[in-house]
Amino acid sequence: MKFNETAYKDNLVDQIKKLKKETDAYILAHNYQRDEIQAVADLIGDSLELSRAAVKVRNKVIVFCGVHFMAECAAILNPTKTVLLPVKEAGCPLADMATPEKLRDMKKKYPGVPVVCYVNSSAAVKAESDICVTSANAVKVVNAMKEKRIIFIPDKNLGTYVSQHTDKEVILWEGFCATHINLTEEEVVKMKKLHPGAKFLAHPECRKEVLALTDHIASTSGILRYVKESPEKEFIIGTESGILYRLKQMNPDKKFYLPSQHLTCANMKLTTLGWLTRSLKNMQYKVTVKEPIAAKARRTLERMLEIV
Ligand code: SF4
Repeated sequence: MKFNETAYKDNLVDQIKKLKKETDAYILAHNYQRDEIQAVADLIGDSLELSRAAVKVRNKVIVFCGVHFMAECAAILNPTKTVLLPVKEAGCPLADMATPEKLRDMKKKYPGVPVVCYVNSSAAVKAESDICVTSANAVKVVNAMKEKRIIFIPDKNLGTYVSQHTDKEVILWEGFCATHINLTEEEVVKMKKLHPGAKFLAHPECRKEVLALTDHIASTSGILRYVKESPEKEFIIGTESGILYRLKQMNPDKKFYLPSQHLTCANMKLTTLGWLTRSLKNMQYKVTVKEPIAAKARRTLERMLEIV
């Protein structure tokens, strides 16, 4: 008998819906997740939207379809809930580029300089930091700080972007997103030649040479908003491929072009309908953050949420 992929997926979706009710679970999905995961989620968003939502979830269980640091954030912000990450190997290479030990060394080098950490970081790194930011609010949060000098970790591209929009001195960390770094200037120029009328939008995790070619720089939620409100009909999208699902859904009359074949985050794509079903069935994989790390990281996240 021939394998029927549609029937297989429909069956898993039915199981997920049933298990969700039985376990009183709420499914959060990042904008970079597979289309079919976004389709079964209760809420889709960027890190900021999902962090805010995680605080308010009333269900017993939060299933975080994303990567490890995101599930950690949900566990930190809503510690009474069971937080599940469907695939335990789903990590973020950018977050792994900063460790609490290395950060402590940097703090010794710059005593008294506050540490601003991108949400793409481990709970242990957040616990060593003063305030957290997401790509949607980094400029606003940094500009709201009274200090004239900051350490920004771990993404140097987002840090550089922030430094261009503040009068503060920004000390950078040598980290980068293993997906956004793949997008080159040449690819963007080539795509712009193919679609001269298209607007180029990009995420601030892209290289600065790529960002120099943009019409607009924004987080995933910012890109979604910009496209929705724009009278333009064609867009070149400089971020992870998963965002195309919502862009197309929200704007069926508009066209989208991905400038590179390498804008897919392997970690984000690990979560499948099969893993989500197993996660709900077996209550796996529970993500917890131990004290005192959780309390310190919570304060770092809450300081951000108080500003934005
Ligand atoms: Fe990490 Fe980049 Fe993947 Fe996001 S897209 S999870 S920052 S590697």
